[in-house]
Amino acid sequence: MPWCETCERFYNPNSVAPDGTCSKCGRFIADPAEVEEQQSSRIPWHFWVLVVALVIYLGWRLVQLIEWLVT
Ligand SMILES: [Zn+2]
Repeated sequence: MPWCETCERFYNPNSVAPDGTCSKCGRFIADPAEVEEQQSSRIPWHFWVLVVALVIYLGWRLVQLIEWLVT
């Protein structure tokens, strides 16, 4: 967790400027690459793959259920 000595407070990685500086005083407090990674990976891409797979699976089960009800 980034710590700003000038402001004497901890910062949530999401509230640090994208270039890794303190949003209050401009002091460099975090690795920009790390901040970017933290900000862009709030919802990991594999989570959406899992959601899509689940939707397809449930859709398929629904089709099977309808077929079972009709026949
Ligand atoms: Zn600061």
